[in-house]
Amino acid sequence: MTELPILDNHMHLRPDGKGVEAVKEFERAGGTHIMHVSLPSWNYNIDPRQTGYEPAYEKAIQLTNKAMQETDIQVYNVLGVHPAELTKWIGMGMTLEEASEMMKQGITTARKYVEENKAIAIGEVGRPHYDVKPQIMEESNKIMKHAFNQAADIDCPVQLHTESMNQQKTKQLQKTIKQTKLPENKVIQHFANPNQHQKPDNQITPSIVAFKDNLKKALKNKQNFMMETDYIDDPERPGAVLGPKTIPKRTRWLQNHTTKQKLLQIHKHTPEKIYNIQIKP
Ligand SMILES: [Zn+2]
Repeated sequence: MTELPILDNHMHLRPDGKGVEAVKEFERAGGTHIMHVSLPSWNYNIDPRQTGYEPAYEKAIQLTNKAMQETDIQVYNVLGVHPAELTKWIGMGMTLEEASEMMKQGITTARKYVEENKAIAIGEVGRPHYDVKPQIMEESNKIMKHAFNQAADIDCPVQLHTESMNQQKTKQLQKTIKQTKLPENKVIQHFANPNQHQKPDNQITPSIVAFKDNLKKALKNKQNFMMETDYIDDPERPGAVLGPKTIPKRTRWLQNHTTKQKLLQIHKHTPEKIYNIQIKP
């Protein structure tokens, strides 16, 4: 597989987890590129009520820089405010408006990092995947729209975290994206539902958690997609959601289930187009 790049489109790293060791495992398994997505602020021991989100982004970037020094993996930063932050800070006594404003500011800060070429995309942003009160959902949609608008201003991709999607919800989401200036093909659906058939008019790119069953379904149901582990580097949940070696391993397995051209689309052509980068080899 020497001439095939292997990209994990959604991986997290924690200062108190395996951190760079996880990137080394990925490298030893044959991986080449990582989209390193920032975690909710508390995973970095940062309280954004005191400091804003910048120190959390800086901690994520530190891990990326260390990984780039100690391995040959190309690691890109994806920075944003996780949708779970809204319920967290309301639970800690903030009003909906205060928490929402803080998160929007955090997303605006992420945009600045992209403008300064310190990050490649805004993410993960969006809506909680668990049941929440209608006003939380409504506010999350506003925050998500703020992210789309920030991204549109600078033509940058967005990694989206939402509840499990179906056709109707996707239609609604497409409508929301249309209300902003962000091209639909700049939106990446993290943890995409592999069972959902992607209609021709749906340009949101699915990122598929690389369980074998998911990948088989994605080959059938999606026009094009990327692969991810959503590795969360949690010392209390080692290997969750999938371990750092999974994308290289599953890519080798996929060689018996699809064509070289398809694998190049997954690991090279699709990410090159969306993130506006060059992926070698
Ligand atoms: Zn994630």
